[in-house]
Amino acid sequence: MNSCIATVAQMDGSHIVTVEGIQNGSDLSPVQKAMRECHGSQCGFCTPGFVMALSGALEHHRALDEKTACNYLTGNLCRCTGYQPIIQAAIQAKAQDSHSVSKRYSKPAGIVDLLNHQKRSLKLVSEKATFFAPVLLEEALQFVAENSGVRVMGAATDIGVQLNKGKPLPQFLLSLHLISSLYEVEQLPDRFTIGARVTLSQLRRKIGKNQTEFARFLDLFASPQIKNVATLVGNIATGSPIGDTLPFLLVSEGEVCVAKWDLKRKEIVRRTIPFEKLYLGYRKLALEAGEVITHVTFKNPTQDEHLRIYKVSQRKDLDISTVSGAFNFKIQTSGKQKKIGQAKIALGGVAATPIRLSAIESQLTGKEITPELLSETALQIGQFVQPLSDLRGTAEYRRVLAQNLFKKYSLEVLSE
Ligand SMILES: Cc1cc2nc3c(=O)[nH]c(=O)nc-3n(C[C@H](O)[C@H](O)[C@H](O)COP(=O)(O)OP(=O)(O)OC[C@H]3O[C@@H](n4cnc5c(N)ncnc54)[C@H](O)[C@@H]3O)c2cc1C
Repeated sequence: MNSCIATVAQMDGSHIVTVEGIQNGSDLSPVQKAMRECHGSQCGFCTPGFVMALSGALEHHRALDEKTACNYLTGNLCRCTGYQPIIQAAIQAKAQDSHSVSKRYSKPAGIVDLLNHQKRSLKLVSEKATFFAPVLLEEALQFVAENSGVRVMGAATDIGVQLNKGKPLPQFLLSLHLISSLYEVEQLPDRFTIGARVTLSQLRRKIGKNQTEFARFLDLFASPQIKNVATLVGNIATGSPIGDTLPFLLVSEGEVCVAKWDLKRKEIVRRTIPFEKLYLGYRKLALEAGEVITHVTFKNPTQDEHLRIYKVSQRKDLDISTVSGAFNFKIQTSGKQKKIGQAKIALGGVAATPIRLSAIESQLTGKEITPELLSETALQIGQFVQPLSDLRGTAEYRRVLAQNLFKKYSLEVLSE
């Protein structure tokens, strides 16, 4: 994980191993040795991060090939040595049990101590702020109901960046990390339900077989360090029009489950909001005062549905989208003729919120797929979207990207 955007309060109940702790006595760890031998280190800024990212990788693999090493290093930037010596070090380093962090530090008594710690709610009160991490959802919702302006924290990969940039600390912070029910992943034959504390890495592992396209797309999301902690619900709740998972949820019957504490009835009240109704404006969600998102659900594509998710950004890895899109069409084939049974199109980065293109979708339903229909639809998409210009792209560029994403889908799926 990236320590620079994490809050210390969220680390309660954790055992933290820093770069100082991976050397075993006077014996450098395999990664430290390889970094030295391959001349992979120069200045002290990035080297500890590279060493920790590769040490994390060797907890999961005995050895690394170039592709795996590069994936684990997605979030690490070097301005001195250049990447080649670091990648060579990654390939040269081999896991050794005597250096495995999980084997060296996982003493049963310590683990029992930490687990017991996690069964107790935590409240930190200072003059500036109150941080509360309860173990029960009920306590969390009561805290939100009783205090105004409570900021909910997922993993704080968004909030942490804002705090780093000098935004004031909210007076009330609520962390959900000790609430065990929010780590649930429910898999029904046709849909998944994902708890608010499920990380994107856990999500990627769970959905793999049933949601191959979404799983592939998650490989392009941020870096392993971010995905090891960041949540799907955090991506939804932050409400950015370029949040990567939102177009997918719009074409996959996504719904968010919210809960709040009813002060009069003294009980939890729950409701479900369909994804199409969730975003009311720029970063404005249809949540009522006191409501917290507990889960999100989405449908798996059926055999006749063709789901694709695309993202255009200035670099492939670890970059925010300029425009993103999700397309999910049902195609009916009879002989040589192919018809559109149902069309779902969602785009991000072309308006103040992620959008569904319902008018264009309904025009497509029942139509035979022809080259003319596809080029006409691409044109209509360009005319329909009203993007803004900003640092990442002009309105015109975004309009062309929106059209081109549909053309890509047409080439990959509809004209097959
Ligand atoms: C280096 C880096 C790379 C990134 N790359 C990407 C990327 O490729 N694509 C992308 O889309 N995003 C990216 N992000 C943004 C961020 O990581 C994601 O949006 C992530 O999913 C946020 O999850 P979180 O749990 O950290 O949310 P948090 O930061 O904890 O919360 C985000 C917002 O949601 C609210 N919130 C959280 N949980 C709840 C809840 N249960 N109920 C109500 N409100 C809630 C919070 O109050 C806050 O306003 C990146 C961020 C960084 C720092």
